[in-house]
Amino acid sequence: GNRPPAAYLNGLNPEQRKAVETVDGPVLVLAGAGTGKTRVLTTRIAHILATGSAYPSQILAVTFTNKAAREMKERIGVLVGEMVEGMPWLGTFHSIGVKLLRRHAELVGLRSDFTILDTDDVVRLIKQLIQAEGLDDKRWPARQFAGMIDTWKNKGLGPADIPEGDARAFANGKGRELYHAYQARLKTLNACDFGDLLMHPISIFRNHPDILKDYHARFRYILVDEYQDTNTAQYMWLRLLAQRPKGVPQNVCCVGDDDQSIYGWRGAEVDNILRFDKDFPGAVIIKLERNYRSTEHILGAAGHLIAHNEGRLGKTLFTERANDDDEKVVVHAAWDSEEEARAVGEEIERLQRGDADGKKHNLNDMAILVRASFQMREFEDRFVTLGLNYRVIGGPRFYERLEIRDAMAYFRLVCQPADDLALERIINTPKRGLGDTTVRALHDYARGRDTPMLAAAAELMDTDELKPKARKALFDVVTDFRRWQSLLENTPHTELAEQILDESGYTAMWQNDKSAEAPGRLENLKELIRSMEAFESMRGFLEHVSLVMDAEQNENLDAVSIMTLHSAKGLEFDTVFLPGWEEGLFPHQRALDEGGRSGLEEERRLAYVGLTRAKRRCHIWFVSNRRIHGLWQSTLPSRFLDELPPAHVDVSASDSSYGGYGGRGGYGQSRFDKADSFSNTYSTPGWKRAQANKTDATRNNWGTRSGHAVERIGYGESGPKSRTIEGE
Ligand code: ATP
Ligand code: MG
Repeated sequence: GNRPPAAYLNGLNPEQRKAVETVDGPVLVLAGAGTGKTRVLTTRIAHILATGSAYPSQILAVTFTNKAAREMKERIGVLVGEMVEGMPWLGTFHSIGVKLLRRHAELVGLRSDFTILDTDDVVRLIKQLIQAEGLDDKRWPARQFAGMIDTWKNKGLGPADIPEGDARAFANGKGRELYHAYQARLKTLNACDFGDLLMHPISIFRNHPDILKDYHARFRYILVDEYQDTNTAQYMWLRLLAQRPKGVPQNVCCVGDDDQSIYGWRGAEVDNILRFDKDFPGAVIIKLERNYRSTEHILGAAGHLIAHNEGRLGKTLFTERANDDDEKVVVHAAWDSEEEARAVGEEIERLQRGDADGKKHNLNDMAILVRASFQMREFEDRFVTLGLNYRVIGGPRFYERLEIRDAMAYFRLVCQPADDLALERIINTPKRGLGDTTVRALHDYARGRDTPMLAAAAELMDTDELKPKARKALFDVVTDFRRWQSLLENTPHTELAEQILDESGYTAMWQNDKSAEAPGRLENLKELIRSMEAFESMRGFLEHVSLVMDAEQNENLDAVSIMTLHSAKGLEFDTVFLPGWEEGLFPHQRALDEGGRSGLEEERRLAYVGLTRAKRRCHIWFVSNRRIHGLWQSTLPSRFLDELPPAHVDVSASDSSYGGYGGRGGYGQSRFDKADSFSNTYSTPGWKRAQANKTDATRNNWGTRSGHAVERIGYGESGPKSRTIEGE
């Protein structure tokens, strides 16, 4: 009939409306940031429900994070009100995978109460298998193999499918055998790992056509957000569910943006989005071009930057959110990361007080997006000093990270030998063969004599209560701690800290770890040691950390968000701060080392994601010096700064102590010398230099890359922890 359009359709532009209303047949919405892709998905679900095309349980919607799933649920609730009973299958690939697997666990040899192992469990298990094979687990580290299995599973490869070369690459050709043994062991334990949450459903669908058919009948509508970041296994899973026999409508709608594909390093395949119309013939492809999120300046800056990528489909974006008093994107320079954090803190307080534009701004509307998680430390410390509320999104706070807690446990025990909790945390980290039995014996002994465990350990070594192997291991631990304690007063504390992490084997543990998270953890450890420099002693530092940790993290508090660029995908904030735009950090050294353009282009997409999170205000920072391991290293401004269009960018001339970089050195000439060394003479690298040259006046203000090489700094990736599973 000719009913008036439903309220939830109000305000949609014609293309969005088409994407919402074309519910039959495959639809791909391919569009830039902030054009309403996610909003289209949400409204589409509302539309399907409101028109009675399906029950909630007949809709399958995949989001990239659990947070996004929650938000989408809320929004659907608002849009369709009480009309809906029950909820769609709405969640991440992993959370939906769990739900499927619980229903059919027996088909892959599990019971429905199977457990999901975390990375540590997986590593422990693999280590046992490696040892059982009679292999040297130092030569063939369990963590490395865990990383390989993860990569295979991202590609949808089971033990039988892995390439010959891959199988040979580990343990003299035993790779495949070990992978088999690992899967068998999981079965015995009634357990699975994260990869299995996709792999098992895939094999169930493949081996049980009747079950797949049931799901085909059930899921009448399938929707996927952030499609550009699906990996091969997710793609296979989705295709199995969405592809129907000839003649049956395939009601699948995927939305994405090739310019925001940022998980290639984790196996995401941007090609998935590019071959959508081959996988789903007859697909309607809809482009959205109006951006509803950002001002013209922000959009202009982002668009100009991303245009430097070659491998892209190319899209136009425009906004009607343009006002004469819109602020340009501002680029700031700081001397080092401490000053960077201080200046960002000042800017935040200025906005909060309303000095900037006469309006008081909420902290909730501001975010700091970093390239690597170690960068968070400086901001967290600064905000605690200022009493400014913050929350870390998509991962733990800096001092709550696993590797930081481990390291701190070592330091605590050196300063405070009675700290039993610290000892228990690290007694077998890295693994030294001090298993539960030994720890229990130690516990009992200490309890019985009312003495700290470390002291008890020293005594227990001399008895024959322990097996020789454990006794030897315990002896080593006690000797190490005695030595470190003796160094406490006379060795510089940062030096001692480094020594502790090295001699204990803790650093090596992560160096041997081939998982995607390991390089980031090593960086965080370096940052931890760096942050100790500001303190007189190890004790003073430990005290500081306990104060920081005490700071409140309350969901309902007005607070600045801090997160990695990777976890910022899909989000938006009034004001966005982007610190650390320096060569080697952003673009990241590893991407540069890769050579070729793919690594660099992924970094540039990440920059595009960062800029396009901002609605009204965007401040970018770079520092001239980063201090790594107590050594100053000069850094070069990121090439991405050169790629920003002057028409939309201001260079801040009023940067606090640094005094701008136009020549009014507030810090004295010596500091300028450093900055100057990379600001004028440069050899022309290939980067669209000509184009950038048009804008000399502005551009030179933030310096350009000189001929001198970027010093190597071991920055690592640090994606979000998108692996929490909820909604089971
Ligand atoms: P991203 O690529 O960053 O994920 P997106 O394409 O998913 O972005 P949304 O988050 O859906 O974009 O929308 C961006 C912003 O624009 C949101 O605040 C949304 O509410 C708003 N918006 C989208 N469409 C419209 C519209 N037709 N009218 C008004 N506001 C809109
Ligand atoms: Mg979105």
